Amino acid sequence: MDELRSKLFYEQKNGYDLIDTAERIDAENYCRAYMRFLNECRTEREATDYAIELAKEQGFVEYRPGMALSAGDKVYQSNRGKALMLAVIGEKPLSEGAVIAGAHIDSPRLDLKQSPLYENEEMAYFKTHYYGGIKKYQWVTIPLELHGVVALKNGETVKVILGREADEPKFVITDLLPHLAQDQMKKTMAEGITGEGLNILIGSAPYADEGKDRVKLAIMSLLNDSYGVTEEDFISAELTAVPAFDVCEIGLDRSLIGGYGQDDRVCAFAELQAILDVQKPARTAVCLLCDKEEIGSEGVSGMQSEAFDTFMADLCESQNVPLRRCFEKSFCLSADVTAAFDPLYPEVMEKRNASRVNYGMGLCKYTGARGKSGTSDASAELVAYLRRLYAEKKVIWQMAELGKVDQGGGGTIAKFMAKRNIDTIDAGVPVLSMHAPFEVTAKLDCYMTYKGVLAVYEE
Ligand code: MN
Ligand code: MN
Repeated sequence: MDELRSKLFYEQKNGYDLIDTAERIDAENYCRAYMRFLNECRTEREATDYAIELAKEQGFVEYRPGMALSAGDKVYQSNRGKALMLAVIGEKPLSEGAVIAGAHIDSPRLDLKQSPLYENEEMAYFKTHYYGGIKKYQWVTIPLELHGVVALKNGETVKVILGREADEPKFVITDLLPHLAQDQMKKTMAEGITGEGLNILIGSAPYADEGKDRVKLAIMSLLNDSYGVTEEDFISAELTAVPAFDVCEIGLDRSLIGGYGQDDRVCAFAELQAILDVQKPARTAVCLLCDKEEIGSEGVSGMQSEAFDTFMADLCESQNVPLRRCFEKSFCLSADVTAAFDPLYPEVMEKRNASRVNYGMGLCKYTGARGKSGTSDASAELVAYLRRLYAEKKVIWQMAELGKVDQGGGGTIAKFMAKRNIDTIDAGVPVLSMHAPFEVTAKLDCYMTYKGVLAVYEE
């Protein structure tokens, strides 16, 4: 009976029962590089810059339209410094399709409003507008740091990173003391902290003179000294507050990684490392580091933008291949995180179909909400293709569905890739506390996702 059972039943195993010591060491080394990336890259712009640096070290050159390309050539193109496309030209022509992996490098955060600075009761604040889906109560009473750019009227762009270094000041949104919170505590968690209430405390020392708004003046004066900006310059700035936590190992056994922005920089790094490591792929390998996924892949740097089509059309033109012929034969792994089963909240999960920490890369045939609304729903054949490939390349993987039916849902870039007539499937790292200021992943799953992307590049 046992024999028959193991032959006929599908049984998943904990990844630690399937890997040897050598692979554990590989996973450790990979995760060290990933943690460095996660610590350094707090915004899509920073991730783009970091990825370009790594790519250049590995021989990637900036793509220029009309460039002659041959097999093995490595090129990249930045989309306005906020998204990145990298390609390693394959041995086979693009008429046979490309192998694409797409992950996003934007994460939920608090953007400053365009007129953010104000003083209230002799304290100075920045007003914010949150970006992406957040539980607002999680963003108060945690240290925040500031990142972004200020585009000046003279055409210059000033980069801002403030609070990242240990000796730099941080910022915070205050919350009510429990002693006086009896009214607040009666509200729902969605109402307890409001969007307009997410105002960041940035200073309290007044400018040494008479008059009004002295704290605001002192803050503006400091900003002017450091960055040469005036209050009007905020109007053309993209400044964002993100959690000021360092990335770290979690657990006595150090098996987990804690940090901000793992959705979806954990998959972005997997893809990046895979495209840096792939040697002479059969079909052209393409790595997409996308922006704006958290707000629906909108905008000129999101996956609904034609920047990607233009890049691919350029590559295709160099081989006299129509873009549509390339797309219809292409394969896309939409690499995005999924919800890991959390034993503290079992009621929202459906155990048979939820992904689990340490069980490997999570494959999602479909995402979406309600009756599979908003998903591209990959074909059975596509899932079978990955089963075959991952068995061969020893990638530990699991099926993943985001929560119980009708409990909620989510989407990725997958549907925008599928819309281009590209066979697309979602896969990525299971995450605990997704979209929180401090998210948790398992090292084994991070490493297996890297292996999973590399396997499709090397098909
Ligand atoms: Mn995501
Ligand atoms: Mn997300």
